[in-house]
Amino acid sequence: MAEQQGYIEVRPFTGEEIYLPIWEEESIPLEVQLGCAWHRCKFCDFANDPRYVFSLAEVAAKAQMLAPYMKDRSRVFLLGENALTLPIDHLRGVMEIIGYFFPHAFEVATYARFDDVMKKSADELEELADSGLREVHIGLESGCQDVLDFMRKGIRLKEALEACERLHAIGIDFTFTMIAGLGGTQLTERHAHETAQFLNASQPKRIWVTGLLLWPNTPLFQIAHEGGFEQLTFRQRLHEMREMMAELQLNDCAFVDSTVLGDYTIQGHLPDQKDDILKAMDHLLATDGPYDEVPPIPKKSHR
Ligand code: SF4
Repeated sequence: MAEQQGYIEVRPFTGEEIYLPIWEEESIPLEVQLGCAWHRCKFCDFANDPRYVFSLAEVAAKAQMLAPYMKDRSRVFLLGENALTLPIDHLRGVMEIIGYFFPHAFEVATYARFDDVMKKSADELEELADSGLREVHIGLESGCQDVLDFMRKGIRLKEALEACERLHAIGIDFTFTMIAGLGGTQLTERHAHETAQFLNASQPKRIWVTGLLLWPNTPLFQIAHEGGFEQLTFRQRLHEMREMMAELQLNDCAFVDSTVLGDYTIQGHLPDQKDDILKAMDHLLATDGPYDEVPPIPKKSHR
């Protein structure tokens, strides 16, 4: 990103690692932004990232560097914690760059927040859909308003549902990430039950569950250290997800929980594989192992 005498030095990726949703591992990862426009969630390690929006010249240079290696890929994922927050003119430019350097890629996906969706007009969302935006990956984290408020997520569930309705109407798919254990011991039952209710009402295309980790550089870590938040054990976390799964009534949704007991991944399609998923969860709940302990503190942050 260094700029000297009209010369811009650009690397394809800024960090040592890139973080893609589990579903986007075959997509072309195109970095358009760093950091998150919200950056207040108490549990989030990414919230510490400084925010930076790459200029279109920088995005084009990154695309040019990636293009020779990505000729067999048909989908682009816009890297950055919530790229949908970028102004429509900028996103229009990004779509043009994608069309120029990746003419074989006809689908685009990105991370987004619900409020990013609500801040775009219907015309802007339609324009993005017309130019290839097929899916947004949204961090729902919980369908329980008290959990969201405690974690300073900045989501009102009523507005979140409106955002889902807008996306359904325009034909842009949406995937949710949710966090098992985010309510701690105090709110676990409501986290399971009210998240299931929200998922049933919103009907996402896919759900990716990950387990809560207490990153040392987050406010939640400090709160837990002072006794204001009690983590679930691995087994309690799985029990919570089992409770949620039992209540799901989804019409057509892929489900993955990639942190079951810290050791396993459970995945399947709903509604047809719901019973199989529940059986797998019951089997693992009865498994012996060090699963009545809380997950360990990560040794280092994402960066
Ligand atoms: S959880 Fe998402 S919205 Fe919240 S600070 Fe982290 S990246 Fe931003």
